[in-house]
Amino acid sequence: MRRHAAIIGGGIGGLATAIALGNDGWRVTVHERDAALPATGTALGMWPAALRALDEIKTGHLVRETGAPQQSGEVRRPDGSRIVTIRTPTADPIHLISRPALLRILHRTATATADLRFSDPVDRIDGLDADLVVVADGVFSRTREQLFGSGYQARYSGGTAWRGTIDGMATSTFVEVWGRGVKFGVTPQEGGRTNWFAAAGAPEGDFHPGAEAATLRRMFDGWAAPVSQVLDAVTEGGILRHDVYVAPALPTHVSGNAVLIGDAAHAMTPDLGRGACEALIDAVTLAECLRAASTVAGGLAAYDSRRRPATRRLSRMAAAAGRLTRVRHALPIRDGLLRASMLAGPPA
Ligand SMILES: Cc1cc2nc3c(=O)[nH]c(=O)nc-3n(C[C@H](O)[C@H](O)[C@H](O)COP(=O)(O)OP(=O)(O)OC[C@H]3O[C@@H](n4cnc5c(N)ncnc54)[C@H](O)[C@@H]3O)c2cc1C
Repeated sequence: MRRHAAIIGGGIGGLATAIALGNDGWRVTVHERDAALPATGTALGMWPAALRALDEIKTGHLVRETGAPQQSGEVRRPDGSRIVTIRTPTADPIHLISRPALLRILHRTATATADLRFSDPVDRIDGLDADLVVVADGVFSRTREQLFGSGYQARYSGGTAWRGTIDGMATSTFVEVWGRGVKFGVTPQEGGRTNWFAAAGAPEGDFHPGAEAATLRRMFDGWAAPVSQVLDAVTEGGILRHDVYVAPALPTHVSGNAVLIGDAAHAMTPDLGRGACEALIDAVTLAECLRAASTVAGGLAAYDSRRRPATRRLSRMAAAAGRLTRVRHALPIRDGLLRASMLAGPPA
């Protein structure tokens, strides 16, 4: 009889896992809380290792065709001067693709082999009957708390983010601009749009609905293009504002026949732009480990030993990068540290 996998969450990690396990002959059911795929969302950078993971589930070509390729980028000061150049470590450039476009590609591919159920939230993991349960319900994972206890709730990182896209404004610039404790990023996005984000330290929940655009214009007043151009074009309704939460470090990503992947397992701050990439790598690594093992338990143990240390290391690096962003004094030292950290290239 075919083995059955139940997947909680039809986001990036859940859908990628559905494809990977479906290709290996598993019967797969995906339980997604939301009624439909999101219609709007900002760009995610797909790094080479994530593109290789997408290749393994035969979707890499679609992401490369759709996304905006980027061979290098820059970190600059507010006056436009360059602090450091960031280069993609291989010939395979980063591709920037919006979350909705990536999800559409994964969803279309997953429907060939998986039973995808929208408006189907999972309240209790013990209500699922399957040989394998993949917990892919994101940073605020309720299943993580059920398995590990209330001490494993998502934690506020101390940082907040504003994001948006500008239609009808194309850019080839891939830039982060670092000021005194705040940063602003501008990247291309598919469809000739400009993707932008801003980050700062802030008290949790300190939102100002209706005044976010004014807050941003004040915070980044006088910054050189492209920040000034983006802020001229930003509208209040086009701003997404989120506090950034992280998942606490777990002692294991496995509990019985359940395995946590993606943000449910290791949500990190977005400072390396790697969370979605790691969810994709989790998905294909999980399938590979299960394929190589004679039992589900053996496959999950192998998965845990491969992915938990690697994602822990990236979470720490992302947190350190976030702390560097929020430095308000001794900026030349900060810039030197940033340059030194880039000498070895971005983390593998
Ligand atoms: C500001 C910002 C910028 C970022 N930029 C990048 C970037 O450039 N590159 C990158 O790689 N990553 C980036 N990330 C990180 C990336 O967004 C996440 O790491 C990624 O979305 C994680 O995927 P996931 O599938 O684990 O979780 P999610 O995408 O959160 O998906 C979880 C899914 O589970 C569903 N769900 C939740 N609860 C239940 C339930 N009880 N039952 C059923 N379904 C449920 C949700 O509806 C959702 O569809 C960024 C994040 C932020 C905040």
